[in-house]
Amino acid sequence: MDMPTPDSAVLSRKDEIVARLRKVLPADAVIADVAETRAYECDALTAYKCPPLAAVLPASTEEVSDVLRICHEMGVPVVPRGSGTSLAGGALPTADCVILGVARLNEVIETDYDNRFIRVQTGRTNLSVTGAVEEEQFFYAPDPSSQLACAIAGNIAMNSGGAHCLKYGVTTNNLLGVTMVQMDGTVVELGGAHLDAGGLDLLGVICGSEGQLGVVTEATLRILRKPEGARPVLMGFGSNEVAGACVSDIIKAGVLPVAIEFMDRPCIRACEAFAKAGYPDCEALLIVEVEGSDAEIDHQLSLIMEIARRHDPVELREAKDADEAGRIWLGRKSAFGAMGQINDYMCLDGTIPVSELPRVLTRIAEMSKEYGLDVANVFHAGDGNMHPLILFNANEPGQLEKCEALGADILKLCVEVGGCLTGEHGVGIEKRDLMHTQYAPEDLEAQMAVKDVFDPGWLLNPAKVFPLDASDARRSVKIAAE
Ligand SMILES: Cc1cc2nc3c(=O)[nH]c(=O)nc-3n(C[C@H](O)[C@H](O)[C@H](O)COP(=O)(O)OP(=O)(O)OC[C@H]3O[C@@H](n4cnc5c(N)ncnc54)[C@H](O)[C@@H]3O)c2cc1C
Repeated sequence: MDMPTPDSAVLSRKDEIVARLRKVLPADAVIADVAETRAYECDALTAYKCPPLAAVLPASTEEVSDVLRICHEMGVPVVPRGSGTSLAGGALPTADCVILGVARLNEVIETDYDNRFIRVQTGRTNLSVTGAVEEEQFFYAPDPSSQLACAIAGNIAMNSGGAHCLKYGVTTNNLLGVTMVQMDGTVVELGGAHLDAGGLDLLGVICGSEGQLGVVTEATLRILRKPEGARPVLMGFGSNEVAGACVSDIIKAGVLPVAIEFMDRPCIRACEAFAKAGYPDCEALLIVEVEGSDAEIDHQLSLIMEIARRHDPVELREAKDADEAGRIWLGRKSAFGAMGQINDYMCLDGTIPVSELPRVLTRIAEMSKEYGLDVANVFHAGDGNMHPLILFNANEPGQLEKCEALGADILKLCVEVGGCLTGEHGVGIEKRDLMHTQYAPEDLEAQMAVKDVFDPGWLLNPAKVFPLDASDARRSVKIAAE
């Protein structure tokens, strides 16, 4: 993966940059020692590593503003970082950058149950937002599988989703407002405490912008009342294609489960070995969950089971109690960790129309054979968000490149069938150069013009999202004009 050549003028001024940052932050909030900066050299896309020039850990919006103002004045690139769980290399440093970590921004600022929102600093983890309101029977809906670790900052930047987003939507559907600091240090408020704040929807532009436009320090999030109850059902099938067709039929029937999760045989085996979830021995598994009162759950499940029966399931098992429901979910939520125990893997993230699931799964199986690399599938099937995991051996020369080539072909397939390159993990560096597949040059140009407005010097999160050739050309035009 190409990265831009580090700016030697910035590298040579490291001491001066660090000294200025130390004037506005406590001593332990500026990390410049080479060994210590290694803690920030990668995110969860561990195939790519690069220690930053320095890392800073501000604890307030004011401190973030001071850091950005200094970096802006000195022409230093800044890479915002939440918890570093990005699977797309979104938080990967460049050698000449300052990593701006938001881990110390983790306070709850305000909780308003009457108006159903919570305002938090964005370094707070996703799960601890629900933790802050669950005593009052509320919850925060977006639930990435990484929710124990990932921060609201990263969720907003990647517009993250999770298993339950089929019903509740992704981050953008649950985000009401943000405080954001622009690269020159200016603090702006976007959105508010209600679903529509009026004016241009700049909040919609920020959510999913992958740290390209500003550093988000505070967020107002919609919280919801916990449903009366929820019940998952396990469905085992004889092939991926049949399970895919079952998903398609459930969606077509207009029933709205809260989640439909899909796992294929390699994934079922790994999860079963890891979590002892009681999964059946079959080719493909669906977990379908519905919510509501007992009567509502019974009604929805009867419709869903009826559809499943038409697809000759090898297993149909409704959770009888909370323990069994917990075990069913534990297997799925441990999927990435379980796969990681047995293999190196690259986790893809693309979205396709649900009706294309059977065709795409068949084609992925063919491609897997063509490349000689196994692919395990686990994904949010209800909204067509696929996560093929390509298994490879990182120690064998050439395997990473082969894995990247297969990944690119699978993502191109997603675009070909009318889907897109990313569902929830973002573009980062991983899919940066594939953006040409989905967007015409003028579309990319329009997106880069938005970055020009928020970050005219192109200092925020360099070498991500936009194809390197296009963003390099853009920067050259701007430098020539200045
Ligand atoms: C095991 C595992 C399971 C996962 N499951 C899911 C899943 O189910 N759904 C899902 O959507 N994702 C999932 N992910 C991916 C990842 O957890 C999400 O993308 C998450 O939102 C990243 O959050 P983070 O705090 O770790 O962000 P980071 O990785 O630190 O950063 C992600 C991006 O956000 C930017 N950023 C960070 N902080 C800020 C800020 N304050 N302002 C502006 N930009 C900022 C970074 O520059 C980067 O581009 C999973 C990852 C792992 C490792």
